[in-house]
Formats: sequence, C-alpha cells, structure tokens
Amino acid sequence: MYCEGAYIAGSHNDAEHYRPKKAVTEGRSSIDHPGYYWLAYEWQNVLLSCQKCNESHSNGTDGRHPGKLNEFPIGGSRVSEPHENPEEWWSELEAENPLLLHPYFDYPEEHFRAGKHGLIIPLTERGRITRDVCDLNRLPLCEQRELAEERQLGFRPYSVMWRLLREEPYEDLLFEERDPFSVYLNSRLADYAKALLDV
Ligand SMILES: [Zn+2]
Repeated sequence: MYCEGAYIAGSHNDAEHYRPKKAVTEGRSSIDHPGYYWLAYEWQNVLLSCQKCNESHSNGTDGRHPGKLNEFPIGGSRVSEPHENPEEWWSELEAENPLLLHPYFDYPEEHFRAGKHGLIIPLTERGRITRDVCDLNRLPLCEQRELAEERQLGFRPYSVMWRLLREEPYEDLLFEERDPFSVYLNSRLADYAKALLDV
C-alpha cells in the first residue's frame, strides 16, 4: 500500500500498523510512548504492506534502510493513551496531524509526481516524509516503475493528447488504483501528453 508495487511470489507481506502498536520512534529515535496498543485490531490502522517498505532492506546500492517499522512522525500533539470512550478514539487522534500519508484516506497524486527513471518527486512535506520513511525511491522500486512505464504507457499519451485537443474527457484512459504504480504512470502519461501538445 505504500509503494504500489505488485506482490512478489514466495514472499509474505505484512499486516502493517500505521500507528505502531508496541513502541514509537520519531526521527528513528525511541520516544516515551507505549505504542498505540488500543488500535492493534482497528481496521483503519491495519494495512497490507510489502516487507521492504515495512522492514529493514537493502536500498539497492551499498546500504540498508530501516523501513517504516515503528516510525510515526507527527506535526501536532501526541496521544499516548486511549480516550475512555472508544467512539472518541479517531476524532481524538486527528490532533496528532500525522506526517506519514495514510494509504486509505490520503490521495497520493496530491503529494507526488513522477520524475524520470522511475523516481517519484514529493510535492508536499508529507510526501517527502513518506518517501523517506518507506524508502520509496529505492533502486529496485525505481527500476520496476520504469519497466512498467516502458511496457504499459504505449500509445496512451497520443490518445490523451487527441482527447485534449478535441476537449473530450480522457479519464477512461488513465490507469486505475488497482494497477501497480498507477500514480506514477498517470503522472508520466500527463507529462507526455502535455509535451506532445506543446510540439
Ligand atoms: Zn511496499
């Protein structure tokens, strides 16, 4: 859910806790917090994540990246214990202003655009932090995005360009959320179509 990558045969994926359940780090340092144990089984807090986004992994060059693990940076005030009324849990947590994008509720296209060679470029502070926490520009991931572009973009930029010229809707030509790397591919598609219009 963080990297939009496809499942890889032979590797299990993680039930990842957006708000970590046992301990919390911020800037990779432990803070005095018991973890968001009361959210361990709340559906809003459990995401399917690949192991590389979530756990320590090779960055594809010469080092290792810790993965998301227990990192949960916020811009507001930290909630350390549950409200006595479970109905209030989620409204109370809004004051935290999480800096990590939530794959269920945030729209990644508002926070990232595509660069060349499979790179994603953050448009916002939350996009930058999410890229860094989950290592979303690791080399193997960039290679997969670039490969998806080579294989799947095809003539779509021309089709989009023609629709734009005729002032017709083109949304049916976009990649869908279920397609791997759809945010990246749609951003590249828009860039190519605009470049064709400028010729
Ligand atoms: Zn991932």
